Amino acid sequence: MAEYLTVEQALAAVLAGVDVLGAETVALTEALGRVLAQPIIAQDSLPPFANSSMDGYALQAADSQSAAPEQPVTLRVIGDIAAGHFPELTIVPGTAARITTGAPLPPGADAVIPVEATNERWREKTRPQPGQVEIYQPVQPGDYVRYPGEDIQAGQRVIETGHQLRPQEIGVLASLGMSWVQVVKRPRVGILATGDELIDVDEPLTPGKIRNSNGYAQQAQVMALGAIPIPLGVARDHEEDVRAKLRAGLAAGVDLFISSAGVSVGAYDVVKAVLEQEGAMGFWRVRMRPGKPLAYGRYKGVPYLGLPGNPVSAMVSFERFARPAILKMGGRKTWTRPQVAAVVQEEIHSDGRESYLRAIVRREDDHYIVVTTGSQGSHIMTSLVQANALLIVPEGVTFVAAGATLTALMLDWPETVF
Ligand code: AMP
Ligand code: MG
Repeated sequence: MAEYLTVEQALAAVLAGVDVLGAETVALTEALGRVLAQPIIAQDSLPPFANSSMDGYALQAADSQSAAPEQPVTLRVIGDIAAGHFPELTIVPGTAARITTGAPLPPGADAVIPVEATNERWREKTRPQPGQVEIYQPVQPGDYVRYPGEDIQAGQRVIETGHQLRPQEIGVLASLGMSWVQVVKRPRVGILATGDELIDVDEPLTPGKIRNSNGYAQQAQVMALGAIPIPLGVARDHEEDVRAKLRAGLAAGVDLFISSAGVSVGAYDVVKAVLEQEGAMGFWRVRMRPGKPLAYGRYKGVPYLGLPGNPVSAMVSFERFARPAILKMGGRKTWTRPQVAAVVQEEIHSDGRESYLRAIVRREDDHYIVVTTGSQGSHIMTSLVQANALLIVPEGVTFVAAGATLTALMLDWPETVF
C-alpha cells in the first residue's frame, strides 16, 4: 500500500481506475449538457440550397452595374419567391423576381438587391407584386446570396466525440436532422455518509449529534457535473452497516462509490476495513491540505473513493479527485477547472503539503488579486461559502510573501470577477 502520495500521483491513480461509460441514445430535446459518444458527421450541407440573405429582388448582377439613385435601372418583375417554395421561373437579362430572406435563389440569378435599395420599400410580404422595380445601386455576383455548404458540407465531421452539448450544438444537430443522438451514460454515483454522530437534515439536534451535511453537499456536487447521485444514507460506524449500504449501492447499479469519513486512523474508521476485506484498497494518505486521508480502491469491482469526514476536506477532495473521475467516466476530455494567476494580498504560512486555501479572486485593472476567506479550519464551511476559488500553495512551500503570484482554481466564474 502506497502512503503519502502527492496530489498528482493520487489523481493519476484515481483516473487510471475509471473508464468512460457506455453510450445511450437520447432525444435531441433531452440532450442539453450531455456528452457526445459519437462524432457528428453531416448528412446534409448547410445551407442545403443557395438562398437570399435579404428581402429584395433576385437578379443578374450585370444588369445593375449602371444603377445610381439619380439614374435607377428598371427591371421587369417576373415573379415572387417566398421562403419554403422552390421557384419555377428563370431570371434572364432585364428581369428580376421578388424574393424573401431564406427563399431559394432562382435559376439565372446570381445576386440579390435588398429592397431598401429599390423604389419598393415593401414590408408586407403578401402585397401584390409590382410589374417593375427601380434599383438604385449596383450589386456584385454573390451579393446577399448564401451558398449551399457555406456553413457545413455534407460528409463533414462537425463535432467530435467527448464534446458537451450546449444550445448551439443542439441547434446544429437539429439543422442536420438528428432527432436522436448517442451520448455517454451519466455516471451513477453512490453517496454514503458514515459516522455514529450523524442525523438527517430534518431531525432535531440532540447532544453529540450533527447533521449529515456531506451527503447532501456531495449529491449537489454530483448533480452539478451532470451525473446521477444515488443517496445511500448514513452508515453507522460498524462494518456490517457499511457493507449493507454498499450492497444497496451495487443493487442500484452505481458506477462509482463516494463515501465520507471513516478513512482516517481512528478506531472507528470502518470504511478502510471493509474495503480491505471485501474489495481492494489502493492508498489512503495524500500530501494535501485539507484532505489528507483518502481511501481509494474498489468494492466488488466498483471504483470507490473514500473522502475525509470534515466537510471542507470532503468538498476539496471531491473537487480534486471525484470531479475528474466523474467527468472522465462521463466522457469528457478535460476535467480541470479554469485556473488564473493571482497576486496574493497577504502573507501565507503553510506546512509544506500542497494546500488548497479558500479564497476570493477579484480582478484589479489588468490582473487578478486573491485574498483568503478567513479561517481555514477544515470544519469551517462558511469560508467555502464566501470563496469563489481555491488558492493553491504548492508542495514544499511553507511561506508565501504578500505580492507573490500563485495559481487559483476557479470554482465559479462570476461576472463580478471577469
Ligand atoms: P472522521 O473522518 O470520521 O474522523 O470525521 C471527521 C470529522 O468530520 C468529524 O468531526 C465528523 O463528525 C465530521 N463528519 C463526518 N461525516 C460527516 C458528514 N456526513 N457531515 C458532516 N460532518 C461529518
Ligand atoms: Mg467518524
